[in-house]
Amino acid sequence: MHGDLIINYSRQHASASTSLTGRSCGQFRGNAVALTGSQDFDLVCYIRFQGDDPQETMRRNEDNHLAPYAMRVEESQGRRYAEAPHPYRNDYERDRDRILHSRAFRRLENKTQVFTRRYSDHFRNRLTHTLEVAQISRTVAKALGLNGDLVEALALVHDVGHPPGGHSGESELDRLMRKHHDSFGHNLHALRIVESFEQKYAAFPGLNLTFEVREGIIKHSRDYLPSTHPELKEYRLEERPPLEAQLIDVADEIAYNCADLDDGYEAKLLTLPLIRESLPIFDRIYRASERKYPAAVEKLKFNEALKRLLDALVTDLIESTRVRLAGKGIQSLGQVRSCTQRLVALGPRMRWENQKVKEFLYARLYSHQNVNSERKRLTGCIRSLFAYYLKHPKSLPAFYFDEAQHEPLHRVVCDYIAGMTDHYLLDRHRKLLGE
Ligand code: MG
Repeated sequence: MHGDLIINYSRQHASASTSLTGRSCGQFRGNAVALTGSQDFDLVCYIRFQGDDPQETMRRNEDNHLAPYAMRVEESQGRRYAEAPHPYRNDYERDRDRILHSRAFRRLENKTQVFTRRYSDHFRNRLTHTLEVAQISRTVAKALGLNGDLVEALALVHDVGHPPGGHSGESELDRLMRKHHDSFGHNLHALRIVESFEQKYAAFPGLNLTFEVREGIIKHSRDYLPSTHPELKEYRLEERPPLEAQLIDVADEIAYNCADLDDGYEAKLLTLPLIRESLPIFDRIYRASERKYPAAVEKLKFNEALKRLLDALVTDLIESTRVRLAGKGIQSLGQVRSCTQRLVALGPRMRWENQKVKEFLYARLYSHQNVNSERKRLTGCIRSLFAYYLKHPKSLPAFYFDEAQHEPLHRVVCDYIAGMTDHYLLDRHRKLLGE
């Protein structure tokens, strides 16, 4: 027999629970795993049958679906603070859920991707971008037999370390920190968020995520040298991360290239003739969608072409990675880790096409006057507030003021500003500097 049986019984029969907790009960043998109830209502006893351990069922499912080079949850290096296993969620699913329920994740809604909220409510923000990365990553993970739960957790957390003001905000904070012989990067900041700044659980500081999620946070988009980052030495810096982490960076790039073409066109900052003339791949795909839907309006033909571009990039990522893994004879996680290069990547032709899209967006969208003016406004606020808090540390919230007793003030100010949403940054700036 498989599955849980729920037996309802009233309080006057509570003594029956004794026989249910370890001895045979009728024709079924089982262990009671939870007992709940109240004075007024019937108690509910959940019986789980021997040999039907949900953790075991999860492991069997994983074995059936995962490729030999995938990261298996039972091989996890675990958490900083030991926790009992959950009856029906594995550790990566729990990590995903902790990220989803964190404040840093919710703040993504009010952080700029490319267009600020003042521009339009229809465009991507960092939260919707994150969800698109998660969708693409899960699709690729499933096709390659990678661990979809780990991939989803990594995709959802990959941008939580971004400060307000998008990439310009990150550059500005880094520039300000370098004046203090320090630096700022969103990957390392994300690690600080999940390790310390999320104050949610009584049992431990931060989110107590598994090693592989923390490792993926810092290594998904770049490598760190042990000589320059000795504080990260526990993260196996001399090795490549699992394929699940390698996947996130490429999925991120595919997601924002396609999304920014979409939002740029919708915002009328990029015209269809300009896109077709600058990007031969888009032009070829657009011609095909025009042949199939000659009577459709331009916007729908554009959407069709964009959908096909996204599909072409994702398909190439899956197939090129599959060929690369087979070509190198990769059959285990150990081989992935010891490989000198990353294995999840587009093929040479699509990598070139994708790079052309990226260069086009830099030249025509990210540097567009309308996008730039918003960006300058936010980076200006970051600069002024950074200087203000250095001069007036008592204006910091209590948590950060306390942190400043054992951390350099510039680091604490940086952490505080990096955690702000665009909206909160502007609000603080207005209140403290009256502008
Ligand atoms: Mg991203």
